[in-house]
Order: sequence, then C-alpha cells, then structure tokens
Amino acid sequence: MTDPYGKIDQAKLAKLAEVSVQVGLNLQPGQDLVLTAPTTALPLVRQVVAAAYKAGANIVTPILSDDAITLARYESADDASFDCAPNWLYNGMAEAYGNNAARMAISAENPALLSGQDPAKVARAGKANSLAYKPALDHIVNFNINWNITAFPGLAWAKLVFPDLPDDEAVFQLSEAIFAASRINEPDPVAAWAAHNANLKSRTDYLNDQRFHALHYTGPGTDLTIGLADGHEWAGGASDAKNGITCNPNIPTEEVFTTPHAMRVDGYVRATKPLAHQGAVIEDIEVKFVDGRIIEASASKGEAAFIKLLDSDDGARRIGEVALVPHGSPISQSGVLFYNTLFDENAASHIALGQCYTDCFVGGADLSKDQIKAQGGNSSIIHVDWMIGSAEINIDGLDSNGKRTPLFRAGEWAV
Ligand code: ZN
Ligand code: ZN
Repeated sequence: MTDPYGKIDQAKLAKLAEVSVQVGLNLQPGQDLVLTAPTTALPLVRQVVAAAYKAGANIVTPILSDDAITLARYESADDASFDCAPNWLYNGMAEAYGNNAARMAISAENPALLSGQDPAKVARAGKANSLAYKPALDHIVNFNINWNITAFPGLAWAKLVFPDLPDDEAVFQLSEAIFAASRINEPDPVAAWAAHNANLKSRTDYLNDQRFHALHYTGPGTDLTIGLADGHEWAGGASDAKNGITCNPNIPTEEVFTTPHAMRVDGYVRATKPLAHQGAVIEDIEVKFVDGRIIEASASKGEAAFIKLLDSDDGARRIGEVALVPHGSPISQSGVLFYNTLFDENAASHIALGQCYTDCFVGGADLSKDQIKAQGGNSSIIHVDWMIGSAEINIDGLDSNGKRTPLFRAGEWAV
C-alpha cells in the first residue's frame, strides 16, 4: 500500500512549521506550548515540536485526538456519556494558559467524521465539551496569550475536498493548497507575512477611522443590516496579545473583523458556502434576523444540526463577529472548497454565531463583561463562522445619520 502522505513536500512542511511557530505564535524563549492535533497530523506535529524547541520553548505538550477513538465513543458509550466532558483536562489547559503557555491547534480532522451519527448525541457532546472548555477558551478569545491555528492535509479531509483523486494525490493537492494559502511558496515566507500584515493593517486603520454605525449587505437572497457594537474596533492579521506578544492567530488569514451589535441586526441573509460543523455539512442556510435574533432558519441539508446549533444557548441565535474578505483573496481564487472554516472563512466575507471577541473594542482589555454586553457584545458557549460573501455581494457602510459609503462592490473593496 502506498503511503497517502508520501507525496507531501517535506521541505515545505518544515517551512510551514517554522512559519507557524515564528509568525503564528511568535513563541518566546522559555515559554510553554500546548499543542492540540489529530493523530493524522503527526508529521506536522513533530516538525512543530522541533521548531518550537529550536525557538527556545520550555515544555511542549501535544494533546492528540484520533478519528477512530472518537467514533468508538459514538458506537459503544453509555447514553449518559454524551452529557460529559473531561473537565480536568480543560481545567489543566486553562491553568497552563493562565501561566502564559502559548497554544497551537493543528486542524487536520475529517470534517464529515460525525455526519452518520445521531445529531442529538453530537449536539449534546458538543455542548458538554463547549461548557467544559470555556475557561480555557476565554484565555484565547480574550487574547490573554499568543495562539495560532494551522493546518495539515489529513487523508479523510483531503478525500472530501478532492473525492476523485487517488489517496496520495488528494493529500498532495490539499497540501499544496495549504502551502499556497499559508504563503509558504514565497521565497521568504516570514517577510511575505510581514507585508501581508501591513496591508491588512491599512484596511483596519481605514475602518477604525470611519467608525461606521452599521453595514448594509445586498445580494441574491440577502438584504441585511448589521449594526456595529458601540466602541467597536476592527482587527486583522497580526494581533497583540495581553502577554505583550504579537502573534498571527490564523495561518492562513485574509479577513478584517470586528464585533457587531447583538441587538441591532435586521433582515435576511443566505449563506454562500456550505458550513462544516462538528461532522455535519450544512448547506444553503437562510435566516431572518429581527432585533439581532434569528427568528427563522432553514437549510437544504443538515437543517436539524443547524437548528440544534442555534439552540445551544441564549446567545447562539445572535452574532458575535462580522468579517470582510474580498472575493479576489487567494483562497477564494483557488476555487477549492476546503470544508474547513480556517480556510473557507478566508474565501468570503462572513459572520459568526455566538461569542464575540472582546478584544474587538476600543480599550477592550479594561472592559467588564457587563460593559461589553452594554456596548452590544454577544456572549455564548459557541462561536461558529459562516460565509455570506460572494462576487455578487455589495456592502455599504452607514453612519449614524444613515449616510452611505460604498465599501464592497461585486465582492471587492470599493475603497
Ligand atoms: Zn472570522
Ligand atoms: Zn470567527
């Protein structure tokens, strides 16, 4: 049997590890690193661990998951298992982040792993996991520490993206798409990331000068006004974590994003790409918002999983992120549907259901939970991005008097 991973360019894989550690995390000498990844990503895990120790890491702790082990639970575990999660593990992770450990997640899993399982069990397990993980996640969404997500072409994922190719060719094609999107093919990837970060910063500077009151989206199936939170701040590319370290949380990234007002979203919107969430692939989502809350929702496929997601908690029917990505972004132009939010969210403008990034406020570090809520920031145990941008979407910025500034025309920046 041929090794499905045999064709991956090992030099590029080593470069991806280096970029993830140096640009993604900007890992500092003496810092601990907690690394989560599926077992399929072991070739990249090993390279990342090596790059991290070379950068001066103190202790690197990989926490691995495995598709077959995940499925064994759904096949054989007692029903009560699905309301439980390993709290001790997540508490330990929260303690590590509280002690300034950096965090890396390698995304490589099969996006359709749980699509054949009972959606109710998947939702219960997901909810229990989200609740247990919240103390650790808070360190991440609040940017207390430097963190990064990067990707490895797991076989099941590659076969979902390239179903007609032989195993090793599918993995190779996905690996090359990941390398291209992550700017690994540039002669000096670290310098290319510096230039890209400067470009994203010019966009966020413009939007932060404008201080729009709301954004108005129009396109097929879409007429949506998204109010922006009071004192919102746009972010994108590199981020300054509260531990003083500038990191690039997502590799790749093309988006600029901010916090919408949880109570001021009105109209209807149609998703422009499928949403892969916890093993289900949800297609043709259409929702209607009134006063910030989704009051009608449908999907042509995976509707039950989508409704379950909306019912996760009070905040799950409101949005916590709005992000702008031009249709001409390299990931969009690759034409590849990755079935993976890390990539697909960078192919299109998107919104996220659930928790807001509290960092996306002016002086966000000093705001209490009550203040963030008063300014319109949403809170929830979920944060799920879905795509609403395409070459057919126009977006206007509205000031508080309703004056319009064209922001996007036919999916591209108009400013
Ligand atoms: Zn986003
Ligand atoms: Zn998001």
